Amino acid sequence: MKIPLVDLKAQYESIKEEIDPAISRVIQNSHFILGPELEAFEKAMASYLHVKYAIGVASGTDALHLALLACGIGPGDEVITTPFTFIATAETIAKCGARPVFVDIDPITCNIDPEKIAALLTGRGRDISKIKAILPVHLYGHMADMSPIMKLAKQYGLKVIEDSAQSLGALYCSQSSSNTSSSSQTEDVAISKNNKANWQQSGTIGDAGCLSFFPSKVLGAYGDGGMVVTNDERIAEKILMLRNHGCKQKYYHLIPGFSSRLDGIQAAILKVKLAHLDEWVSQRREKAMLYRHYLQPVEGIELPEIAPYTRHIFNYYTVRVDSSKINRNKLQEHLASQGIATAIYYPLSLHLQDIFRHLGYEKGDFPVSETAQEEVFSLPMYPELTEEQIENISQAIKDSFF
Ligand SMILES: *Cc1c(COP(=O)(O)O)cnc(C)c1O
Repeated sequence: MKIPLVDLKAQYESIKEEIDPAISRVIQNSHFILGPELEAFEKAMASYLHVKYAIGVASGTDALHLALLACGIGPGDEVITTPFTFIATAETIAKCGARPVFVDIDPITCNIDPEKIAALLTGRGRDISKIKAILPVHLYGHMADMSPIMKLAKQYGLKVIEDSAQSLGALYCSQSSSNTSSSSQTEDVAISKNNKANWQQSGTIGDAGCLSFFPSKVLGAYGDGGMVVTNDERIAEKILMLRNHGCKQKYYHLIPGFSSRLDGIQAAILKVKLAHLDEWVSQRREKAMLYRHYLQPVEGIELPEIAPYTRHIFNYYTVRVDSSKINRNKLQEHLASQGIATAIYYPLSLHLQDIFRHLGYEKGDFPVSETAQEEVFSLPMYPELTEEQIENISQAIKDSFF
């Protein structure tokens, strides 16, 4: 028995008949950079997300970088974000010449805590004049609580850039009570036709949303890829220029830009895959329920909860390991010896990373994030995972305690 963290080969086998002709079509037509393949995918994504503009770029990291620049973030500015995320989130803030200002996370969702953002903005003795934006991350596929974040942004005149790299297809409901978490995944929100209007897609709530098509993401390319989505025409225009050497018209350059396009082959692959996304997302959610079924009684393992305001898409299935009861390293080694791959997203909070040492943060500054880094543990998750595999993984976890 060998169970990978994600099984990209199994997914390819299931859609091979659609993927292979799409790739050879692009090669035949030689539309490799910009052109109709990219336009068709951008149109399909804009329609899927109900958003005006969807602009393909070279990676999720570039999507963040270009979105920050298009929102006017530059040297001397400050951007509020979470310390518990992949490095790209804060790295791109730094690449704009701006400073990440970290705010601790919510212990249940592992996403930035709006109450702590409010505390930072209203706190005495802190100069907030340089803060220009908030960059929430929807970690693992569970959305951050966007309503209070948008309210604060409006109140303080801040831009909001969503890092939706792990949450394409996740939904946010602005009508639900926001602070309580439902412990049962079976009680998950029903998205009926009647209340659909209250639900918004991840990436479409703030000024700009950033997607990643890194192969392990819910919608993965066969290489690197990313996208910025927005309803703001000025941001869209800026991204279009930035991704292609700062020009609106070929060979007439207005600003220093980048060479950051989503290439034609990836666009054709992603367009095929986008048509399967909803089905894959519901399969992921089913797998999450199966994990809950098989892992429910395990002492020292806390299962992921879903806040009532979100539809979780489980890009990753991340449990919490109580470090006073279970040694996470030993558990990981035991599972590896059984052929089961696991991961730790992420083992070191960003405020403690060497690259941000100059910002002056210290251990203890963000205790919730620092606890999460010791406890999070991601199990295999992909649409093709079988019930038998989930049962085996759960059994292997239980066996590891003896
Ligand atoms: C994957 C990821 C990114 C970066 O995306 P790439 O396409 O790998 O550049 C950014 N933020 C988060 C939270 C991610 O998971």
